[in-house]
Amino acid sequence: GNSGAEANEGAIKIARKYAHQIDPEKSQIITAWDSFHGRTIATLTATGQPKYHEGFGPLPDGFDYVHYNDIEELESMMSEKTAAVMLETIQGEGGVYTPEGDYLKKVRALCDKYHALLIFDEIQAGIGRSGKFFAYEKYGVKPDIVTLAKGLAGGVPIGAFIVTDAVAKAFHAGDHGTTFGGNPLACAAANVVLDTVPKPEFLAYVEEVGSYFKQQLEHLKAKHSALITDVRGTGLILGAELASAEHGRDIVNDCLAEGAIINCTAGKVLRFIPPLIITKEQVDTVILTLDDVLAKYDK
Ligand SMILES: *Cc1c(COP(=O)(O)O)cnc(C)c1O
Repeated sequence: GNSGAEANEGAIKIARKYAHQIDPEKSQIITAWDSFHGRTIATLTATGQPKYHEGFGPLPDGFDYVHYNDIEELESMMSEKTAAVMLETIQGEGGVYTPEGDYLKKVRALCDKYHALLIFDEIQAGIGRSGKFFAYEKYGVKPDIVTLAKGLAGGVPIGAFIVTDAVAKAFHAGDHGTTFGGNPLACAAANVVLDTVPKPEFLAYVEEVGSYFKQQLEHLKAKHSALITDVRGTGLILGAELASAEHGRDIVNDCLAEGAIINCTAGKVLRFIPPLIITKEQVDTVILTLDDVLAKYDK
């Protein structure tokens, strides 16, 4: 495909088709509150944020939402009617939330118990960003379907969903496709990424510069403790939560004026998802800029 939304559409389609072979009523797809899965009708429905739903109804049936990291709630929602559980391995847009403890292993076990497929949306956290090629490798859990886009072709539009052999059998010729899907230009760019990012030394670099970045953010938190309440994330997907949403926008704009591109997601989480080749010196520059900007609002 050509985008993340299309990758997730494909994942939802094949999960439904696979489940339909078991039982035509097996169609429920469970996703998380505060998730982000795209802006097509099915993927905005999968996105557990009401603001993305408003004005687009009626939305497709069969989607339910649970709180990420709450395994009891997920268990109470699942049954043999569950076709799939679809989660971001690390929530990006929703405020940079990583899985706690054995959460993902327990999700895997519930999916196995109810013969439901586990879909990981790694459109943001995959392709080396977490310090592993797939973020799920960090947590020792394998999904049945993983979706990729964003970094997959280094900025050239592409999207992909990867499935197990068993799941692949659910699709037959004509069930899925798109004119520009798998086009040679995007695939050539993706092949360069795939020849580079999975190399152990490249991933080790992401891990190293990522922990350095996180450490520096921790120092900023200690220094501006009234403004920053939490620092989280892993590899080069990092977040610094602000005490309130009051200055989120201003901090982003002030940083931009000083040449540092960051963003603020979920109202009050400063998010850092830099290029994977960022250097420690460049991290220092961002941290110095942020320190100056925060000082303005730190009263
Ligand atoms: C960006 C994103 C998408 C949507 O990708 P598009 O290419 O914008 O359609 C889906 N899921 C996650 C986790 C994302 O970060």
